[in-house]
Amino acid sequence: MKIVIIPCSFDNYSYLIICEKTGEAAVVDPAEFYPLFREIEKTGARLQTIYCTHHHADHIGGLEDLLGEFPGAAVYGHGSDQRRIPGMNHSLADGSKIRIGTVTGQVMHTPGHTSGSLCYLVEDALFTGDTLFGGGCGRLFEGSPKQMYDALNGRIKLLPGQTRVYFGHEYTLQNLKFANFVEPGNEAVARRLHQTTVQRDLGQLTTPSNLELEWQTNPFLRCAEEGIVRSVAEKFIGEAGDPLAVFTALRRLKDSF
Ligand code: ZN
Ligand code: FE
Repeated sequence: MKIVIIPCSFDNYSYLIICEKTGEAAVVDPAEFYPLFREIEKTGARLQTIYCTHHHADHIGGLEDLLGEFPGAAVYGHGSDQRRIPGMNHSLADGSKIRIGTVTGQVMHTPGHTSGSLCYLVEDALFTGDTLFGGGCGRLFEGSPKQMYDALNGRIKLLPGQTRVYFGHEYTLQNLKFANFVEPGNEAVARRLHQTTVQRDLGQLTTPSNLELEWQTNPFLRCAEEGIVRSVAEKFIGEAGDPLAVFTALRRLKDSF
């Protein structure tokens, strides 16, 4: 399996997954047409499938034009997004199996950012859309804090540490500034913040990260850690909360950070 990272629009990421044995390819989140089309042409990949993590316009902006070029492509999304993703012709649910040539994967339904948000686990690569970001997570537009908490801490966090995390936006630097604010004593956060600052100064991309690094540095996966519980109590809720209360407070704090 080969994964090509395709920066799109302002700070979106689309991804091209290519089966190196058969040349068959899939796009995750067709954010913008031209960057995707150029990459597909360049690699000579045969685009067969488009996987959508969710219905937001910044993630499907290139879908219509892509279907104009590749009218036979199958378009997948969560069943509940059928009417919100134009051109979607295949429905997925939690646990659905997917295949790109000889590469196989499976679908995780992770509501929170939107009600139909999906993550795609393809071999050791997890495509998270706007559910999990480098050092952060997506805003709660259609889901409850509990849904997002469960998706992140009850599902994604349990995958192996070496799982590569391919997220939907380049928000890592901003996220780590927040992580450093809520957990100033975390050296792994300070280190990653420094590295990311240098990377961004050089114009480098921060995707993919990996789950182990997120365990160590992403406050939204660390809601039971003492430092965070204490800091959220001091800065926000006034008393130590359970992990869900901490998550809820963190997400609200981040909205206005
Ligand atoms: Zn979104
Ligand atoms: Fe987005």
